[in-house]
Amino acid sequence: MSDLKKQPLQAVKGMNDILPPESARWEWLEAKMRSVLQRYGYQNVRTPIVEPTALFVRGIGEVTDIVEKEMYAFEDRADKHGQAEHLALRPEMTAGVVRAMTEHSFLRDSGRRLYYFGPMFRREKPQKGRYRQFHQMGVEALGFAGPDVDAEVILMGSRLLRELGLLDGEHFRLELNCLGAPDERRAHREALVAYLEQHKAMLDEDSQRRMYSNPLRVLDTKNPALQDMANGAPKLLDFLGEASLAHFNGVRAILDAAGVKYTINPRLVRGLDYYNLTVFEWITDKLGSQGTVCGGGRYDGLIEQLGGKPAPAVGFGMGIERMLLLLEEVGVAPDAPVPDAYAIVPSASGLPQVMVALEGLRAEGVTVVMHPGQSSMKSQFKKADASGARVALIFGDDELARGEVGLKPLRNEGEAQSLRKLAEVASWAHELRNA
Ligand code: ATP
Ligand code: MG
Repeated sequence: MSDLKKQPLQAVKGMNDILPPESARWEWLEAKMRSVLQRYGYQNVRTPIVEPTALFVRGIGEVTDIVEKEMYAFEDRADKHGQAEHLALRPEMTAGVVRAMTEHSFLRDSGRRLYYFGPMFRREKPQKGRYRQFHQMGVEALGFAGPDVDAEVILMGSRLLRELGLLDGEHFRLELNCLGAPDERRAHREALVAYLEQHKAMLDEDSQRRMYSNPLRVLDTKNPALQDMANGAPKLLDFLGEASLAHFNGVRAILDAAGVKYTINPRLVRGLDYYNLTVFEWITDKLGSQGTVCGGGRYDGLIEQLGGKPAPAVGFGMGIERMLLLLEEVGVAPDAPVPDAYAIVPSASGLPQVMVALEGLRAEGVTVVMHPGQSSMKSQFKKADASGARVALIFGDDELARGEVGLKPLRNEGEAQSLRKLAEVASWAHELRNA
């Protein structure tokens, strides 16, 4: 027992620590994403990680992989009346955003353009690019029916990928499809089920199970033996009426004008039940079967399905881990952040004065790391070098007594040390920031 207690604890399988220097890449990517999102007038939204299980069952659909197999759902402790709530870790955030908008009557007067970042949870088999806690950046534009906003969210994704240098090569393809309206899907469904019945003998277990519950998802099969069958199946595109086609063509006309390249994939259905009309995915073939980096589409029925006043909506979710894997794969890396300066403090007696001086530098926007504790000058200079800082600030006792600090460039060997007046920080701080 006591031995067991001493064993170091480990993180849950498929749930990762994000540590420096890797965490700096996350911050870099998130900042890039935020900058793009804000340029389109999208606003940040943060909803709880835990929601009532019913939200996802109703929102995502009962016969989806997520709800059937992947959701972390549990019963909370009973309250004093013996009632326990059924709760789940969110597997995606669209349902939570819709709940929040309805709960706070945020769609009463106008539409909303929102974005979020955060962890999502799915009990999948952990592998490269597939984790049990993973992170998404997503956008939701709620209350807008026209193809202009479908095109806007696609353009936004496209701008982000372009600014990251990911649209220059052949890293990505954008696949597009139109899932039409419920009655069109019903007509297509009948034809599809009839077709699947003809091929029943060859279907795998998953497809047999989905054939009646969610036949559209059979077209989504990754089973190589079923590709020809799926390609030959009746296409939803052939069942679309005038209004759906006009919407689809509206989206395409904007993408064409903006020079956004895409391919139409009639088999693209996406894993969640709530989509209609436009659906899309950005796919790379550099990450194997974890190649879908971003997926989204229109979900005009979801708000009403979750008890809100009917309103149209469109959005997408982008996997942060997969984006980072791809950026690494293609060699796009941010410069590792380094401090402007490293403070060397030879003796403890001057610490109050030193730390006040460092506050003065930080107030001027300088990034300065202080050597913690006391050690030899030699080891402090070593640490200063290792930090990547451009200059060392030397707070020697003599200098301090004169109200001065020594400044030694670390990058350009041989450059002489100079002295600065602590009382005149503002006059030389900018030099450190831009060193
Ligand atoms: P996949 O087909 O790869 O399972 P999905 O269709 O289930 O993806 P969505 O629900 O659309 O994915 O989520 C949007 C994005 O979130 C995906 O495109 C992907 O980048 C990312 N993602 C989804 N599941 C995981 C996971 N388990 N681990 C890491 N990233 C994930
Ligand atoms: Mg999935």
